[in-house]
Order: sequence, then structure tokens, then C-alpha cells
Amino acid sequence: MITEVVNTKELKKVDPVFGQISFDEHEQIVFCNDKDTGLKAIIGIHNTVMGPALGGTRMWDYNSEWDALNDVLRLSRGMTFKSAITGLNLGGGKAVIIGDAKTQKTPELMLKFGEFVHSLNGKYITAEDVGMTTSDMDLVRTVTPHVTGISEEKGGAGNPSPITAYGVYMGMKAAAKYKFGSDTLDGKVVYVEGIGNVGETLVKHLSEEGAKVYVADLNQERLEEVRDKYGVDIYGGNNLYAEDMDIYAPCALGATVNDETIPQLKAKVIAGAANNQLASELKHGKMLRDLGIVYAPDFLINAGGIINVYAELEKYGKKEIIEKTENIYNTTLEILKNAEANQVTTHQAALSIAQSRIEARKNGK
Ligand code: NAD
Repeated sequence: MITEVVNTKELKKVDPVFGQISFDEHEQIVFCNDKDTGLKAIIGIHNTVMGPALGGTRMWDYNSEWDALNDVLRLSRGMTFKSAITGLNLGGGKAVIIGDAKTQKTPELMLKFGEFVHSLNGKYITAEDVGMTTSDMDLVRTVTPHVTGISEEKGGAGNPSPITAYGVYMGMKAAAKYKFGSDTLDGKVVYVEGIGNVGETLVKHLSEEGAKVYVADLNQERLEEVRDKYGVDIYGGNNLYAEDMDIYAPCALGATVNDETIPQLKAKVIAGAANNQLASELKHGKMLRDLGIVYAPDFLINAGGIINVYAELEKYGKKEIIEKTENIYNTTLEILKNAEANQVTTHQAALSIAQSRIEARKNGK
């Protein structure tokens, strides 16, 4: 299986659709277009061997449609491996809606999107991602049952973000244990980049444990709110990657670990919520390994959200959600040790296990 994804520029150069490496054996890609509501969305269904393709919908004001396509392909592929490594009977899918969630998201647009999801007959199940809330999913639920991340008032498992943050916290502690010999984060300097739904709860756990937390975000209001709530420091510079720190926690968008940032990084551990943190999995995973920076694979430690929404399908409760999420600690530690033993990057170690589970299922084992 191909494990590398090309960047947008390379994507533009290649003509044939199915030959593009970023398609990485995607089963189906659905372009949703509705002039009346202004909906332009893409649903990526990467793999359904383990079950229906479940993954959230991101609404983002992309620079170009190519960027949106590239994002959905990378995200849906990531979901396949996230669910497989977490042991869930789910495949990988994701959707993106092109537009600014603050100004262009309307009930009509969300309902139309829901109709497109419904037309796939459950092959793709949606949930929230960046730019979406539980009330958006409640609305989508009125036109299709193939949606999770429903509010607790409407009988769902509620906002998955706090659980995602708890899982990231577990993964971070495991990575600290591996790198520093102890999983305590008391006194550790942690930079959290992106303090949205997930980042804020992560900041809460970190500050409660006594970590020295710096926060960065594009949104000044949020920065001040989170600083006042948890007593953390706002990072005032413009290049946090070069700052002295123990742990870098990317919790905004992906690809912040790249050719430019890696040589500057002083962090000893990278553990955060953002999907697709490595711009190039193979190249940047290896660069981190060579520098001795421990990378806790994103799709492994940010699985709390999918564990939470899966509860709606499998009908398990909060206790089981927490137990499964806490297990991210053990899995992360195992994978970090496995990577060292097999002389591969941590990302490759996690990916191989996920891929072999999918292969086994495909072959009826
Ligand atoms: P969110 O939209 O609530 O928060 C993202 C935050 O990042 C915002 O405050 C935004 O201002 C900030 N941001 C954006 N670009 C930035 C930049 N360049 N520098 C600094 N800050 C920036 O999103 P979220 O739900 O908290 O998700 C964060 C990340 O975690 C995303 O990559 C998402 O895909 C991933 N993730 C989320 C969940 C979940 O349960 N919400 C689950 C798994 C993975």
C-alpha cells in the first residue's frame, strides 16, 4: 500500500485521476454541488474493509479547490488507520465543505450536505470536525441517520473534543514516559498551538498537572480567554517552533511538521491533536527520528473523538469511552517501543499495525 501523499503542487501536475498517489486506493470520492445553497463539498471514502467509513466534516475557507481535495484525501486516509489502530470496526472517510464556517454556514447548506450524505446509504457516516458543532450534526440528523457526534440532549454522545483532548493527554504522557523516563508533566514546558475545542481542554489537563503551558492561536480573544481561565502564558512571538520547550502540541491544522520547522525544533516530544501533522509522513517521520525527537503518531493519540462518536453506533456509555481512551497511553508506549525495536519511525510502526489489521480482515482472518 502506498503510504506517502503528494503535496498540492504535485497533485496539479498529474493528469489521470486514479493514478494519483494521493488517491492511495480511495474507494470513492463524491463531489457535492448545490447552486441554491452554495454548497461545495467533497466526501472522501478511503476504505470500508473494517466497516462504514466514519469521519468528520471540516468546513474551511480553502485557498483553492485543489487544497480542499488534497485535504479530504489526506484526512479520509488517516481515518482508516485511526480506526484500525484503535480496534474499531470502522473504515475511513471524511468530508470537507468549502467556505468560511463563520459567515457561509447556513441551515439550508447543512441540510443539503446531509442529503448528499444520505444518498451514500451509510457507506459514509459523518460527524463534526473543524468548523462544525454538535448542533450542526443535530440538524444533519433530521435528513439522514448516517451521522454521529449528536448532542447529548438529542440522545448522542455529545461533543467529542474533550475526549479527543483526554486521549491526546494520555498519548503525551506515554511519550513523556518513553523520552524522559517518567510520565509526569509537572514542570514540563509545553507549547499548545491552536486552542480551539480540543486545544483548550488539553490546556486544562496540562495546567492541572503543573506543566508550564504556552498557548498560540490566530484568535486573540481566545488566547486571552484561555489565559484567564487556566493561568497559562500567551506566546507572543511569531516562530514558536524555535522556542525552548519539552513538548510541542500541534492542535490547529496539519502539516506544521515540515522541512522548514523540523530543523528549528527544540522540542523533545511532539504530541498533539491535529490530523496529518507530518507534511510528508516518510520524510519528516525519518527526520524526527534522526534528531531523536519522539513523535506520538497523530492518528493514534487523537482517536478519543472517534471512540466517542463510535459509542453512538455501538451503544456503549461514558465509562467505556473513558476506558478505551485511557488505553491510548498503553498503545502509544507499545508503538514507541516497537518502532525502536524495529528501527522504523513511530509513524511507520503505527501504520504497519493498522495496515496488517485491515489486511487480515480483508482475508477473512
Ligand atoms: P477548532 O476549529 O475548534 O480549533 C482550531 C484552532 O486552531 C482555532 O482556535 C484556530 O484559530 C486555531 N488555528 C488555526 N490555524 C492556526 C495557526 N496557523 N496557528 C495557530 N492557531 C491556529 O478545531 P478542533 O476541533 O479543536 O481540532 C483541532 C485539530 O484536531 C484539527 O486538526 C482537527 O482535525 C483535529 N482533531 C479534532 C478532533 C475533535 O474531536 N474535535 C478529533 C481528532 C482530531
